[in-house]
Amino acid sequence: TKSLMRANNLTAVYAADSGQDVPAVDNVTLELPEGQILGLAGESGCGKTTLGTALAMIANPPLYVVAGTLEIDGNEINLSTLPKNANQVHRPYRGETVSLLPQGAMNAISPTLRIRDLVVDVMRAHNGSVTKADALDRASDRLKMLEMPTRVLDSYAHQLSGGMKQRMVTVISTLLNPALLIADEPTSALDVSSQKALIEMLLAMVEAKIMRGVIFITHDLPVLSMVTDRLAIMYAGKVVETGRTEDLVNNARHPYTAALLSSVLDPTEDTRTKHVLGIPGSPPNLGNPPSGCRFHPRCKFAMDVCSTTEPKMLSEGDHDFACWWAKEHPRETIPMEVTHA
Ligand code: SF4
Repeated sequence: TKSLMRANNLTAVYAADSGQDVPAVDNVTLELPEGQILGLAGESGCGKTTLGTALAMIANPPLYVVAGTLEIDGNEINLSTLPKNANQVHRPYRGETVSLLPQGAMNAISPTLRIRDLVVDVMRAHNGSVTKADALDRASDRLKMLEMPTRVLDSYAHQLSGGMKQRMVTVISTLLNPALLIADEPTSALDVSSQKALIEMLLAMVEAKIMRGVIFITHDLPVLSMVTDRLAIMYAGKVVETGRTEDLVNNARHPYTAALLSSVLDPTEDTRTKHVLGIPGSPPNLGNPPSGCRFHPRCKFAMDVCSTTEPKMLSEGDHDFACWWAKEHPRETIPMEVTHA
């Protein structure tokens, strides 16, 4: 399959007052094939939101992209030009090529604006010559296509349910038909039926080629395992395993992926209550990460080499992982039952 997006060796840091930069995303390479939904998962603080933000070319201080290129929809962009004036440099790509739906966007809608004014603002911010009528036509067509009531355009945010508000901000973030939508925790504040409605809408939008790829960021692995074609698992600023969702879920090759999955995906239990189990130990401080494999202090499979030398990314077909244990055990699935004490 042709790739829609490929990020190469992306590193993004938070400049700390102490003068020491904290790398929140460390040398990440990631690819999204055309027409697919990629899930980005990991515990909170693993860098998934930062990676999504950098891929959307929105790096505002204290976040700086210090290295990396982004190939997207035929463009190649040097992301390390982001520091000085990201907003000017990459503006032409924003909205049309990549659109970011940030975490909590539905709560950020101004209470004094009607949804229709928001639609007009968003379209005009991108193209000053768009008329009000054209902007609203585009929005109503989109809503009809998605089988949503067009009367929501006349509402204020507080008049809409959480689920409807979230679907509206999602529609608005795709009004310019971006090649890629990056959605950060779009379902996490919603009840189960609103989650379902949002997911169905996203799938319908991909099907209709409104956008040609989605990066879906969430800690909610049960949701990701239902929706995505591919998964990328992040730990402490690094992508540690990527592949087809089916392969990762059924044949995890990295102990962290297996631990993450076994903490949430037990078919015999209510997956939602299992979130609280988590993985023993805590994610490391990104300012001072463990040597070698960053997961080694929490890993049940750790060997001597793990604490001294960082494992390189290996491939088995379409499935990539960075782990010394997996290197020594070709094609062997990590046994989930031993990932927890
Ligand atoms: Fe565990 Fe070593 Fe693999 Fe890291 S490299 S996940 S410590 S076995």
